[in-house]
Amino acid sequence: MAEYDEPKLISLVVPCYNEAEVLEAFFARVVPILEAVAGSRFEIVCVNDGSTDDTLGVLLRAASGDGRLRVIDLTRNFGKEAALTAGIDEAHGDAVIPIDADLQDPPELIPTLVTHWREGAEVVLAQRVSRNTDTLLKRITANAYYRVHNCLSDLKLPENVGDFRLIDRAVVNALKLLPERHRFMKGLFAWVGFSIVIVPYEREARSAGESKFSGWRLWNLALEGITSFSTLPLRSWTYLGCVIASLAFLYGMYIVVRTMILGVDVPGYASLLSLLLFFGGLQLIGLGVVGEYVGRIYDESKGRPIYLVRRRYHELWPQDTASNPRRVVRLASAKRG
Ligand code: UDP
Ligand code: MG
Repeated sequence: MAEYDEPKLISLVVPCYNEAEVLEAFFARVVPILEAVAGSRFEIVCVNDGSTDDTLGVLLRAASGDGRLRVIDLTRNFGKEAALTAGIDEAHGDAVIPIDADLQDPPELIPTLVTHWREGAEVVLAQRVSRNTDTLLKRITANAYYRVHNCLSDLKLPENVGDFRLIDRAVVNALKLLPERHRFMKGLFAWVGFSIVIVPYEREARSAGESKFSGWRLWNLALEGITSFSTLPLRSWTYLGCVIASLAFLYGMYIVVRTMILGVDVPGYASLLSLLLFFGGLQLIGLGVVGEYVGRIYDESKGRPIYLVRRRYHELWPQDTASNPRRVVRLASAKRG
C-alpha cells in the first residue's frame, strides 16, 4: 500500500577497502545529490572490506549522525567482487547503484541514471567515453582484454563499462539466483540480461589514496572473467591436439617412405630435441589451462560463503531514534516493501 504514496527507495552500494582518506569527501559530495534526486528515500550501504586503516571508524562516525547510512563490516578482505556482492545482498532499494568510494565514478551522474530508471530502464550502464585518466599500459591491456573476452565468450561484455551502474530490484533478485563463489561481477551483470540504457561519462582520477588493483590482481580478474564465461580455452586443446596429431602422422608417413627409398638416416638430433621440448611445453600449457578450471571447480564444490559479515550497523542509532523516531520507522517499512 505504502508503495503508492511513497517514492521508491534508492540504495547506493559502496565497497570500501582502506578508503579512510576519501570517505568524508565522498559523503559530502554524494549526500546532497541523493537528497536532490530522492528526498529522504535513499540509503547508502557501505561495506568495509577488511580495511586495515581507519575506514570503519570514519564510516561509523558518519553513520552515527545520519540514519540513512548503513555499515556492513566484513570479517576480512574478501576482494571487491565479494564486497560488492555483500552490499547488493544487503541493499533494500528498489534501485541499487554500486559506486566506488574513491570518487572516480562521478556522483553527478546519479540523477541521470535515476531518470532513465524512472522512465522504465531496468539497467542503466555508465560507460566511460575515454580512458585518459588511465596509464597507457592499462589502456592497452584493457582494450586487449575486452577483445579476447568477447572473442572467446558467447557473453559479450560492453566495453569500458565498470561496476558503476543502476540496477532495478528485479535485476538484483536475478543476481541473487547466481550462486557462484567466483564472482566476476561485470560478467554476472551482463549475463542476467534485462533492458539496458547506456549513459556516457568521463571517469575522474582517484581523489585520494591509491588503486587497490595491482597488475597481478588485474591479471587474475581477467582470468576470472574468461574462465567464468567461456570453456573455449579448455576445449581448444582437443582441436590443437587433432591438428598436431595429423601433422605428426603425415610426417611419420614421410619418414617411412623416405626410409624405404633412401635407407636409414641417423642424424636428426636437433629436430628431435626441439620437437620434444616444444611438445613438452605445449602439454604443460594445456595442463595449466585444465588446472585453472579444475581449481575453480574445486573452489565451487566446497560451497563456502562468498563473504562473512562481522557486524551490521543499521540506521537504528540510539541518538537518531531519539531525535527522529519516525524516520527510522519509515525506513524500516520501506525495506519490507
Ligand atoms: N575495493 C574493495 N576491496 C578490495 C579492493 C577494492 O572493496 O579488495 C574497493 C575500493 O575501496 C574502491 C573500489 O573497490 O571503492 C575500486 O577500487 P580501486 O579504486 O582500487 O580500483 P580501480 O579504480 O583502480 O580499478
Ligand atoms: Mg578507483
